[in-house]
Amino acid sequence: MHVTLKEGRERTVLAEHPWIFSGGIDRRKSDADAVGVVDVRDHEGRFLGRGFHNPKSQISVRMLTRDQEPVDKAFFIRKIKEAVALRATLFDHRVTDSYRLVFAEGDGLPGLVVDRYGTVLVVQFQAASANFFRETILDALMEVLSPTGIFERSDVGNRKADGLTGEPVGVRRGTVPDGPVEILEEGLRAVVNIHTGQKTGYFFDQRDNRVALRRYCKNAQVLNLFSYTGGFTVNALAGGAARVISVDRSAAALELGQASVLKNGFVSRNEDWMVMDAFDAIENFTVASERFNVVVLDPPAFAKSGEGLERALKAYTKMNAAAIELVVPGGYFLTSSCSHHVTPELFSNMLHLAALRAGRPLQILEVRGAGPDHPQPIHFREGSYLKCVIARVL
Ligand code: SAH
Repeated sequence: MHVTLKEGRERTVLAEHPWIFSGGIDRRKSDADAVGVVDVRDHEGRFLGRGFHNPKSQISVRMLTRDQEPVDKAFFIRKIKEAVALRATLFDHRVTDSYRLVFAEGDGLPGLVVDRYGTVLVVQFQAASANFFRETILDALMEVLSPTGIFERSDVGNRKADGLTGEPVGVRRGTVPDGPVEILEEGLRAVVNIHTGQKTGYFFDQRDNRVALRRYCKNAQVLNLFSYTGGFTVNALAGGAARVISVDRSAAALELGQASVLKNGFVSRNEDWMVMDAFDAIENFTVASERFNVVVLDPPAFAKSGEGLERALKAYTKMNAAAIELVVPGGYFLTSSCSHHVTPELFSNMLHLAALRAGRPLQILEVRGAGPDHPQPIHFREGSYLKCVIARVL
């Protein structure tokens, strides 16, 4: 099967952009009508590469290779080995044994996410391009990495947009612990649950930002808003924080957070874990005139689509302004957004407005993003989502 692109539409493929939208395809000169691997040709019939064709998705083709090669187990083994080689450079397993091993398009494996939790792998087949090859990919992962088990967490919303039905979850290879697992991240322990946790169980993308937070926390009173399992909390304590209050509406997440704090030998008081709406918590602290040396604000994506963007930016601005006001003069503010639709520029503008509204000047200290286990092809801006800024609040 093959698809032929309209004139000019070969440019993004030549620039290694992994997606071809339906509007780019000249259907009269194409014979692809089902899901599967197709040759991609330019309007004059020249071979551009091979991709995965999916007539049910807006993204008609996801590119797999620029070569005339079979897309088989050997192909996936090679791609996985390339991804593993990068992580071998990034991590010393004595201090970090868990991280994102395959970041979909970022690692040339469209629709496939693999997170490593110690000796267990958690996979997500987010798009048909990965789901179609699921058994081959699982075999390839076993062969390259010999994990004790592979768990699937394909309960992700974006599968539907790719025409996939169902959200399969379960053990796919070997054995997987029933309850929480303990992982090591930059020398600190984290207790996480790959069965019930969000995404695959943990947010590896914030690792380096958590480490960055440490140096601002000496003797500090810290407020960690939207703490989830306390990743920032544990790092603040490692940085010498006197006390960290963690707020999240998920009691299960906070329970794991408390277990993590104890595992690392830090003191944990029950009242420092607040099962609560973060907006209410901010309001309560404001009214009670409680202030903190460090405030961390890492909310979920407010803008899930382009349409909700305006409203989401207003909500981010309001919440950031209120959180900034909770910081003592000379204290620090770490703020983040994982919404893809909020570009780094929009995020920066939002923070300007928030500082103005709070009437507090900010000194920007660090502009950060996801860690390097989330590689970013330069022409694939669709893959970028995490923004993180650390500022001093004057
Ligand atoms: N900072 C975390 C990740 C945060 S994920 C880390 O480093 O791992 C976002 C978190 O926000 C989730 O744990 C979710 O339970 C929580 N959440 C979502 N809406 C909330 C709300 N209105 N109030 C409090 N917590 C909320």
